[in-house]
Amino acid sequence: MSVLSCQLSVKKVTENWELTTSNGLKTMSKLKITAVGHATHLIEMDGEFLLTDAVFSRKVLFWRRMKEPGIRPDDLPPLTALVVSHAHYDHLDLFSYKYFSLKTPIVVPLGLGKFFAKFLKNPIVEIPPWSEHRIGNITIHSVPVKHRGFRLSGLRWQATSGFVFEKSHQKVLFPGDTAYGDHFKKIAHLHNLDVALLPIGGYSPPWFQKGRHLNPSEAVNAFLDLKAKTMIPYHWGVFRISQEEPEAPLSWMKNILGEKPGLNVKILEPGESFSLDSASFRSSSPMGETVQIEVRK
Ligand SMILES: [Zn+2]
Ligand SMILES: [Zn+2]
Repeated sequence: MSVLSCQLSVKKVTENWELTTSNGLKTMSKLKITAVGHATHLIEMDGEFLLTDAVFSRKVLFWRRMKEPGIRPDDLPPLTALVVSHAHYDHLDLFSYKYFSLKTPIVVPLGLGKFFAKFLKNPIVEIPPWSEHRIGNITIHSVPVKHRGFRLSGLRWQATSGFVFEKSHQKVLFPGDTAYGDHFKKIAHLHNLDVALLPIGGYSPPWFQKGRHLNPSEAVNAFLDLKAKTMIPYHWGVFRISQEEPEAPLSWMKNILGEKPGLNVKILEPGESFSLDSASFRSSSPMGETVQIEVRK
């Protein structure tokens, strides 16, 4: 039964792929995601660049950086937008904004704009939940997450959001921080994701972190719920934000991959990139493995 299902699903993906190729691979756009570290990613979509949750400081709050940023701020390309998921210090580091042009728009959840307006002259774009905004040629969709940000002063600025970036028929999910919940299936209902960036660290102690962050096992369940083609784990190895060792989420993730080698998970150290273009589509026969996972689900 499962073998038959698996064959059918593989055929389905192959058909999609053939459909694409018969339409001409030249129409497929390049997607490149570079890990800078923790939740900071440089995302290139067909010649435009986004930067998520920009943090370049050697220390945020009381957490010291344990790995150098994968890209130096001076080496960044011109950005279409900076995107900020929430106000926690490991995601919103005001000191890092000295590196960016004041003309670069900053995209934030509804309710966080006033925080930035107090400190920066950049154009601010607030996106309400389940809404979208086009900036450059990228459409940014706001999607729900299970998390709540704040700054220490008065525990204000709790607005939190995930985002789906869309351009040229490619979609990338960046949820910032999130716990596990039914929101992943809701996102999958609306968005056919090529890549799901998913946080895997900050889970210890579980009694405190369970409703705030994903552990690697929960992140894999979220990946399956999302039905994304590729998962890229982040939020590990750079800051000791909770009680587990910074590299522990990665070890746990590798154990899962050892047990389920069909999972299409790409691990990126800071400075490493994942690219999706016509060439990698052609060589990505492992997409069939992704399908097997969907069948098991
Ligand atoms: Zn957070
Ligand atoms: Zn975080």
